[in-house]
Amino acid sequence: MKENREIIGFIRDVFKTDNFIPLHAPIFVGNEKKFLNECIDSTFVSSVGPFVDRFEKDLTKYSGTSHAVAVVNGTTGLQIALQLVGVQNGDEVITQALSFVATSNSIHFAGASPVYVDVDYDTMGMSPRYLRYFLEKNAIIKENKCFNKSTGKRIGACMPMHTFGFPCRIDEISSICKEWFIPLIEDAAEALGSEHKGQKIGSCGDLGVFSFNGNKIVTAGGGGVIVTNDQNLAKRAKHLTTTAKLPHPYEFVHDELGYNFRMPNVNAALICAQLEELDNFLKNKRELAELYANYFQTNPLFRKEMKETKANYWLNCIEFKNLKERNAFLEESNKVGVMCRPIWTLSYLLPMYKDCQKDLQENAIQLYERIVNIPSSVRI
Ligand SMILES: *Cc1c(COP(=O)(O)O)cnc(C)c1O
Repeated sequence: MKENREIIGFIRDVFKTDNFIPLHAPIFVGNEKKFLNECIDSTFVSSVGPFVDRFEKDLTKYSGTSHAVAVVNGTTGLQIALQLVGVQNGDEVITQALSFVATSNSIHFAGASPVYVDVDYDTMGMSPRYLRYFLEKNAIIKENKCFNKSTGKRIGACMPMHTFGFPCRIDEISSICKEWFIPLIEDAAEALGSEHKGQKIGSCGDLGVFSFNGNKIVTAGGGGVIVTNDQNLAKRAKHLTTTAKLPHPYEFVHDELGYNFRMPNVNAALICAQLEELDNFLKNKRELAELYANYFQTNPLFRKEMKETKANYWLNCIEFKNLKERNAFLEESNKVGVMCRPIWTLSYLLPMYKDCQKDLQENAIQLYERIVNIPSSVRI
């Protein structure tokens, strides 16, 4: 077992600094200032503009989908995606408790309640085995719709998450969802550039959503995008996020309750410049992951991408033996300005979601007790 002090020294060597090391900081080394200036000079800073259109086109290279609709952040993107597949007030959505709170919040904002199925220990994402087990035990199909026998509610969608950019077993989850008539939405917020068996993450379900918050692999300041191969869903996404306004040269007519969720052009300018750098960032992060992988060969152990998958290595993970070792490391590293983080508190432990249905969650609990994220920024 390596001493914590030695590990912290290694991270300092990797980032070549004695100053504070953040977990993940954005970097701006490309056309960011140029595009932002162009945006301001044009006066088109708000919710329409050429950078929004350009971004929606550029992004599809990384999402592997035919359509992309830019939105103000990932959370609203997930909420709209849920509404687009028909999730309504009083429905349930199957997801994982091991996720950032936004996953569950988006389900709540769509009027539904989360149901938590455990993750796989190796992928840290939703377990197809436990998903099937949950459905076989609790669900019933009536007129091509799936209902939860124990609560009487409709299961309106399934929303797995690709934890820290590591793909979950999305192909198996997709087949199970098809069998059970459950629409599939990928919370791909952390996984831009990741792949599963050659398929780009974000393109594996009915809809996928990425986030461009300041801590993600590329940033718009704040922003998100809904992606899909279904032209009608894309059209509906654009309509719902732009106040459901009907096109007209001057009249204001809105044909349903819509949202002001479109990404402003000024944020799109920033993300257009960032996307130009994404291939470099992915390469740079893979090199960092290799350094870590060589160093952390035993306890703690580095988490590598799984066979037949490509991770974007957004946040690197090391795995301790138990909660005590994890806590000792977090205490020591954060005290000396090397920012390290545990996995989020599992969602069903939060006051808003404490009454939600869940299975045993053995893997999620163990991962929470053992995994630590270590500094993962792109190194210049
Ligand atoms: C970042 C993130 C979101 C939400 O994105 P925002 O742009 O911050 O709203 C959703 N889900 C997961 C798993 C995330 O990491």
